[in-house]
Amino acid sequence: ALTLKGLSKAYGAVKVLHDIDLSIDNGEFVVFVGPSGCGKSTLLRIIAGLEEITSGEIKIDGRDVAKLSPAERQIAMVFQSYALYPHMSVRKNLAFGLENLKFKRDEIEARIAEAARMLAIEPYLDRKPRQLSGGQRQRVAIGRAIVREPEIFLFDEPLSNLDAALRVQTRAEITRLHRDIKTTMIYVTHDQVEAMTMADKIVVLRAGRVEQVGTPLDLFENPCNLFVAGFLGSPR
Ligand code: ATP
Ligand code: MG
Repeated sequence: ALTLKGLSKAYGAVKVLHDIDLSIDNGEFVVFVGPSGCGKSTLLRIIAGLEEITSGEIKIDGRDVAKLSPAERQIAMVFQSYALYPHMSVRKNLAFGLENLKFKRDEIEARIAEAARMLAIEPYLDRKPRQLSGGQRQRVAIGRAIVREPEIFLFDEPLSNLDAALRVQTRAEITRLHRDIKTTMIYVTHDQVEAMTMADKIVVLRAGRVEQVGTPLDLFENPCNLFVAGFLGSPR
């Protein structure tokens, strides 16, 4: 499990996360929702080990995240902006992280083949990112996370650059991926439909604090206050 206890984060004098307590079981699909600026991305970057915390603790299966080496830190993050290497082919984009971790060539090839099959990106392996559509690029970005075979996937609004139809399709692909591999996934969005349809558990954040945690049904039927009700309950 992933556990956060009394976690706080400040940038200089500005506190952006306040005393966060949260526990995420292995295999859960957890969605973080909340308005712009409430600290969703900061929290994800902290879980990824990309950002130091000001106080509190964060552990994966009892081990302090800050003390893990990059190879031990089995976490892969998918960004809204894809963050692909523009000068590398899709194949090389998928291979790069594994090469840095000194994986053997056949292992790299096997993992790329498997990810490409899961995401139906085999036809594009020799193209450059600029020769792909937004949806194809996002699938490559997800593929780059899959080949790492992480213990935890982190998604930061991965669909927000896609048009409505592609968003629905890619959302279904991520849900299917979770069903297939049953790895812990933490997914940030401010789309209430995504939160309600994808999550085992939703964490509602507001101004750097956890407002409520529960299943989509819990939050819909028993929102703890008007903020949560307004955020998830009212259809738009
Ligand atoms: P959005 O939905 O717009 O992506 P968010 O919930 O992901 O918002 P964060 O990016 O986590 O919000 O930002 C939380 C707060 O921390 C914001 O007030 C932001 O201005 C501030 N912040 C984020 N990164 C930094 C930084 N590197 N230095 C200073 N302040 C920062
Ligand atoms: Mg963000």
